[in-house]
Amino acid sequence: MAQITNHMPTAELQALDAAHHMHPFTNGHELAAKGARVITRAKGVWLTDSEGNEILDAMGGLWCVNIGYGREELAEVAARQMRELPYYNTFFQTTHVPAIALAQRLAELAPGDLNHVFFASSGSEANDTNIRMVRTYWAESGKPEKQIIISRKNGYHGSTVGAASLGGMSPMHAQGGLPIPGVHHINQPNWWAEGGDMSPEEFGLARARELEEAIHELGEDKVAAFIAEPIQGAGGVIVPPDNYWPEIQRICDAHEILLIADEVICGFGRTGKWFGSQTMNIRPDIMTVAKGLSSGYAPISASIVSDGVAKVLDACEFNHGYTYSGHPVSAAVALENLRILDEEGIVERVGAETAPYLQEKWERLTDHPLVGEARIVGLMGSVALTPDKDNRAKFAADPGTVGFICRERCFANNLVMRHVGDRMIISPPLVISPSEIDLLIERARLSLDQCLERIASEGLL
Ligand code: PMP
Repeated sequence: MAQITNHMPTAELQALDAAHHMHPFTNGHELAAKGARVITRAKGVWLTDSEGNEILDAMGGLWCVNIGYGREELAEVAARQMRELPYYNTFFQTTHVPAIALAQRLAELAPGDLNHVFFASSGSEANDTNIRMVRTYWAESGKPEKQIIISRKNGYHGSTVGAASLGGMSPMHAQGGLPIPGVHHINQPNWWAEGGDMSPEEFGLARARELEEAIHELGEDKVAAFIAEPIQGAGGVIVPPDNYWPEIQRICDAHEILLIADEVICGFGRTGKWFGSQTMNIRPDIMTVAKGLSSGYAPISASIVSDGVAKVLDACEFNHGYTYSGHPVSAAVALENLRILDEEGIVERVGAETAPYLQEKWERLTDHPLVGEARIVGLMGSVALTPDKDNRAKFAADPGTVGFICRERCFANNLVMRHVGDRMIISPPLVISPSEIDLLIERARLSLDQCLERIASEGLL
């Protein structure tokens, strides 16, 4: 069998891919008919595909390549660590330097008294950890009835059975018998789609108060925690009204509910500060982190836990852990990534320069006939496509039809933007330069123009 390499013809790679590789969140037959795009190399914010196209990656991979592609330092650290200690576990009263150093650094970076770190390999696993952690915390605190976790419709917390149950994605719940018992979903703070005649402030308060209503309905003595993303990412970059999070914080404090901030996307500079909790001014008891922790160079995630929660868990044996909890190579890579984010002032630059520069151009997209609201916090942004912005109307076609057309136009114009329904979203590497931002906006506008032309000609407007 010939070796499979980047130098093989694209069609051959696509055929082998279709024959043997099952893709996440993908209809295999449709993809096989079309052929997957084969990415061969990447540098900075640029991807290269097997046809030699240079593509601007405005999604930072899957919201994770905060530091940009192609940093030699991370490769060096990984190679060094593999030579020295490629693997050892952290079970059975054992530890190693990369896990110690990364836990210490995360405790330093995380706000408030979030000083304790439980490692996993993915955001999903870390959220599964959180489910067992908060339930165990209350059981060990003499309140074993406090087991229900409240989360939100259209929230995303991962794909494992537990994490997908926390998430509020109905197509995911429809497969495999989800959600698990003890998870309760409330509505999301998506004013554009669901705010009706309310002002954003009225709506923000109403949606936050659904948490309090749910607590009353379920019983304060039964509710363990509330989990949410500071800004919903996979749900379409939904920025909540300003009064939403302060009210959620008040409710969690008033009812002894642990607050879990899922920072898998928002963490490590994405929102212009180190963590989305700082941008949204919240005080979580647990933060889930992944993605930007290693900028995607190695799989690693963590639950960062407050002094109070850790004290209770440390007093018992928490029967939980993964073979790769605190994997030395991933931990070493993450530590180097954090060093670069810090020492090169990347997070500060996003807050002070890059985000304001992008925001001004992004928000101006509302002058395009297809664009209703354009929202952005730090370097995560979205635009809602609409046939009638004054009425925040939806298209007559199935949700996502127009978004998909727009995404295809973006691909054709060598820009990776994703669509969630009829929202277009971006989350570029934090190292994107002003001229690359100009190009991103130029290609986004061109794609929107072409999308408008296409849907007009197909009678979809
Ligand atoms: N939480 C959030 C907020 C996410 O965006 C994601 C992934 N997109 C996850 C959890 C799951 O992370 P993973 O895919 O690494 O399991």
